[in-house]
Amino acid sequence: MTEDPSTKPVKTQILKALHSSASDGDLQTVSRLINGIADVNGVDDHGWTALMLAARNGRDKVIKLLLDKGCDYTLMNPAGQTALAIADFWHHPAVSHLINQHAQQGSSSADNNNIINFFGLSILDRFSHKRTEKEWLKQKRMDQASTFVLFSQSSPYVTWSDSSSCRVCRFQYNQLQFLLEKPEGDQPTLIFLGVGKIPVLESEPSPSDSTSSTTTTSSATTTSPATTTSDSDDPAWFALDVADIPEDTIKGIAPSAELLSPKNYLALMSLADNEAGVIGQARALFSWHDRYKFCPTCGSSMRIEEAGYKHVCENKECRSLKGVHNTCYPRVDPVTIMAVIHPDGNQLLLGRKKQFPRNMYSCLAGFMEPGETIEDAVRREVHEESGVKVGHVTYHSSQPWPMPSTLMIGCFGYAVSTEITVDTQELEDARWFARRDIVAALQTGRGTGDTRSGSSEGPKLLLPFKQAIAHQLVKAWVGMTANL
Ligand code: ZN
Ligand code: MG
Repeated sequence: MTEDPSTKPVKTQILKALHSSASDGDLQTVSRLINGIADVNGVDDHGWTALMLAARNGRDKVIKLLLDKGCDYTLMNPAGQTALAIADFWHHPAVSHLINQHAQQGSSSADNNNIINFFGLSILDRFSHKRTEKEWLKQKRMDQASTFVLFSQSSPYVTWSDSSSCRVCRFQYNQLQFLLEKPEGDQPTLIFLGVGKIPVLESEPSPSDSTSSTTTTSSATTTSPATTTSDSDDPAWFALDVADIPEDTIKGIAPSAELLSPKNYLALMSLADNEAGVIGQARALFSWHDRYKFCPTCGSSMRIEEAGYKHVCENKECRSLKGVHNTCYPRVDPVTIMAVIHPDGNQLLLGRKKQFPRNMYSCLAGFMEPGETIEDAVRREVHEESGVKVGHVTYHSSQPWPMPSTLMIGCFGYAVSTEITVDTQELEDARWFARRDIVAALQTGRGTGDTRSGSSEGPKLLLPFKQAIAHQLVKAWVGMTANL
């Protein structure tokens, strides 16, 4: 999405006004500006946000308002200071307390905003109640206003806007009629994804939306679910499996369409933030259809129902047709992923697998087991992999990770022991990292860790890319911890 250059000076003016009113503690003006078009996370020429400026000057009322409006407290200025670090430095305990409280709450701020990670933000309302309405679905399928996205081997057709970012390629009924109107039994798998949401506040976060040269821009966002509405007249979205159709045929319909490398899932990180959710949804469902072709109860063949969201066994005698059976529904596999905080509050436990890029460390993670709480899974995994004991556990945010059907449950774990014994089956190494090293890693960004410099400080830490919840957890911790 390109920005109209004529609005740029106006936006700069508004941002300047926001910054000066935040510094001065002018609550009314700040309120007016952020309810209008001001970018709450916009930075001034020195790389400071409104939140940082309010923190510098001890403006607690403005701080509270900005946080409630979704201001990102994890952003850092070029000196690596978050708003909390600034408030601490200038001795504004009331401000420090507010930011800390907000950070600890994570997912439950006053406006009911939730942190949404990459693959979590969707432009669609799933409209699950319509999945059984065959007539409505048929009408939507033939509606020219409907959007179709095409998949092959669980990978979408996209259009590249530049070499680093792509958008999903959107098709219409008349372009795909030859596929959609095939005789019954011969039709490719079609999944109803939902209807387009109408956002009250138009905002399109995108990975390329970089406002500074550092990695302080986020791939997590806060959105209130209450700000969107949709009804059954809104355009429907479908995903169609075209694995049997040659790529050239698809290109004949849309010349710019390209299949996003099915073998390299990292290519999905090039998707726009607000399309990743839709693609993740479809990808997880196609992977499920692809891997679960026979009834897990009796081995008979199954048919797809409920617009792609249910498998029904063809064997009328099958037990799966009686009572409640989770075997009929798409898989979601919960994984806990945790940033483990040292008892001194100033270090984080991170580990690396052998196959990670050089110097990259990430949060520990592991699949949950049946009959286990999230908290216990966090404690068990951390202890198994690192020997560290975790006491209190808090939830931060979650992330669907459609490779193929994982749900990452992001937590903070508060360590009650510090000695590390690495489980070498799972990890190559696990270590405590000081906050300053983590801040440096967030600032230099991924891929710039230089081990050839021969510096005495040792190899520089590399963190996972910002689309990964591990990155967001680490960043959130930096935002809620000032230098001690
Ligand atoms: Zn069966
Ligand atoms: Mg494990």
